Amino acid sequence: MSSPVIDIVGLSKIYNAGTPAEVVALRSANLTVERGEFLAIMGASGSGKSTLMNMIGCLDQPTSGSYHCDGVDVATLDAEGRARLRLEKIGFVFQGFNLLSRQTALENVMMPLVYSGITAADREPRGRAALAEVGLADRAGHRPSELSGGQQQRVAIARALINQPPLLLADEPTGALDSRTSEEIMALFERLQASGRTVVIITHERPVADHADRVVIMHDGDLHPDGWQPSEQVA
Ligand code: ADP
Ligand code: MG
Repeated sequence: MSSPVIDIVGLSKIYNAGTPAEVVALRSANLTVERGEFLAIMGASGSGKSTLMNMIGCLDQPTSGSYHCDGVDVATLDAEGRARLRLEKIGFVFQGFNLLSRQTALENVMMPLVYSGITAADREPRGRAALAEVGLADRAGHRPSELSGGQQQRVAIARALINQPPLLLADEPTGALDSRTSEEIMALFERLQASGRTVVIITHERPVADHADRVVIMHDGDLHPDGWQPSEQVA
C-alpha cells in the first residue's frame, strides 16, 4: 500500500514566537490526504490557509509537529532536499498565475524541466503534451499578455503538471477569475483528479470548494475536519 501524499500530525506554526507580535497561525493540525483525493481547504481571510499551504508545499517550516510528503519526513531534509522534494512531488498553482511575461506559454510550461535536468530535446514534447492536457495545444507560442486570465491559469496548471508530481497544490487558484472562468478551471482540476492526480485547493469561495470530494475548514489557526461549518462561512 502506498503512503498518503500528505500526512500531517500535530503541525503548528507560530510567527514571531515569544515576542509581543506572536501569532499562532496554525495550531496542532492533523491532516491525511490519500493519493487520488481532491481536497478543498476553506476559511476566512487570516484564518491560516496560506500558512498551512506553505507547510504542505515545504515553502516554510513548522514550529512543531510532523509532515510526511509522499512518504518522506520533511523534517529530515535540508534546504536543498526540500527544494528537490518541491520539484519532484508538488505542482504549485497560485492566484496570480506567476508566469514569466517575456516567455511563451510553452517556455513557461517547460521551465521546471530545466531544473530537473531534462535535456533540451526532451523538454519540448513534454511541454506540448502538458499544454494539450489543459486544452491549450494551439496557444503554445502566445505570451501571457496574449492570453485570457483563464488561459494563463491553465498554462500555470500545465507547468505544475510537467514533472508529473503526486500532488497539485493550489492557493486561491480562481481568486483572480470571474465565476464562469472559475468553473472552467475547477472542471479542469476535476478532470485531472479523474486521471489519477491528487489535488489540494485553498479557497474562501464555497462554489469553488464544492468541486472537491472533501472540505476541511480553517478557523483562527484551527483545522476542522469535514462537517464543521463556522457561522462566519454562511454569510
Ligand atoms: P489566510 O491565507 O487564511 O488569509 P495566513 O496564513 O496568510 O491566512 O495568515 C494567518 C495569520 O498569520 C494571520 O493572522 C497573519 O497576519 C499571520 N501571518 C501570516 N504570515 C505571517 C508572517 N510571515 N509573519 C507574521 N505573521 C504572519
Ligand atoms: Mg492566503
